[in-house]
Amino acid sequence: MTGKTIVILGGGFGGLATVQQLRRALPTEHRVVVVERQNTFSLSSFNMRFMVGEIKDRREVERPLSELASKGIEWVHDEILELDPAARRVRTSSGTLEGDYLIIALGAEKDGSGIPGFAESAYNLYDANQALLVHKPLQELDTGRAIVLVCRSPFSCPAAPYEAAFLMDSTFRSKGNRQQVEVAVYTPELKPMAGAGPAMGDAVIGMLKEHDIKYNPQQKVQRIESGDRKIVFEDGETSFDLLVGIPPHTVPKVVREAGLTDETGWIPVEIDTLETRYPSVFAIGDVTSIKQPNPTGLSLPKAGVFADEQGRVVATNIAAKLRGEDKSKKFDGKGFCYIEAGDGQAAYGSGNFYGYPGPIVYLEPPSQKLHEERKRLELDQLEELV
Ligand SMILES: Cc1cc2nc3c(=O)[nH]c(=O)nc-3n(C[C@H](O)[C@H](O)[C@H](O)COP(=O)(O)OP(=O)(O)OC[C@H]3O[C@@H](n4cnc5c(N)ncnc54)[C@H](O)[C@@H]3O)c2cc1C
Repeated sequence: MTGKTIVILGGGFGGLATVQQLRRALPTEHRVVVVERQNTFSLSSFNMRFMVGEIKDRREVERPLSELASKGIEWVHDEILELDPAARRVRTSSGTLEGDYLIIALGAEKDGSGIPGFAESAYNLYDANQALLVHKPLQELDTGRAIVLVCRSPFSCPAAPYEAAFLMDSTFRSKGNRQQVEVAVYTPELKPMAGAGPAMGDAVIGMLKEHDIKYNPQQKVQRIESGDRKIVFEDGETSFDLLVGIPPHTVPKVVREAGLTDETGWIPVEIDTLETRYPSVFAIGDVTSIKQPNPTGLSLPKAGVFADEQGRVVATNIAAKLRGEDKSKKFDGKGFCYIEAGDGQAAYGSGNFYGYPGPIVYLEPPSQKLHEERKRLELDQLEELV
């Protein structure tokens, strides 16, 4: 058989899991090519540690993508400008690439520019540099209101805003000024972590109450007035002294322009094979929209754990096909996430998001053991992905 070319668009969490699995499973006559504009890879979950000052330098937890070459993976260090799914072709700033298979793992654009005042007023929790920057004002805030603001749904890692609130709470308690600082979350969601079902939402609301963190659901921000330190919602307003924000998420422009999205604004895929409506073109991770196969109408959350597993499923199936093997793997909707709870502890939610009649997800209460487990897993993931 002549060698095939598999092109992976995006070398983030899902894209890297895919290329590593493909390279392990395929003989070298087949090309595995990843197109990624960044130089390095890291995990977004480190932003929590940046925020509390546990890690002070990004470089400690970044890995250069140039290391992929030693594993036989080609890395095209470029911006993808145009995508033609029917021809399985991409145009980058330096040329054109065609694949026998195309795997789209371009994630979500996280852009606060659509919310007037966001850039001037909020520390963007989803940007590593901003997460590093928020450490100082967090330490310096003696009195007032520390707010976590979710601008729009859906957003990546549904636990992250709540983790940020728990970490704020624990920072102020260890400084001894928690009585002087109000901590609150404002979000358009009805309940936290909606994709995991209402029981998970209630459990997180219970944790917030225990920590005296005010939960303000169904709040859709319109603008932020930086001078007056005021957030204006469709219905009401509130003040802040320190604002940590999660900006709106959208599908990358190149994906939208390729006509791959549906009314959700994301790429629809087969829920178990991740194939798009174009043959041999797959999409995984945050760029997709996946309805859970149960009557809840809920979507699969956007999370690295799903991007990673989906990438492995797609890679395994492509490799099996190219090796002439008659077997296939299905993505089964199972996943987990740690929820940083402050005081060096983390909770752990896990289960089956394809469960019936709804997601079957359990929450293990916070402990130091889970926090340590998470830290080890993050470092293992970093080593494995690059
Ligand atoms: C603060 C925070 C904490 C999180 N914590 C967790 C956690 O604990 N557990 C968990 O499972 N998930 C967590 N997540 C979510 C997780 O990071 C994402 O779900 C995951 O990264 C999605 O993977 P992906 O491959 O779909 O997209 P990404 O990892 O975002 O990768 C997309 C890649 O595509 C590249 N790209 C985009 N457009 C172009 C273009 N035009 N040209 C070239 N390259 C392009 C980007 O540079 C990027 O590297 C967290 C997220 C955040 C923000």
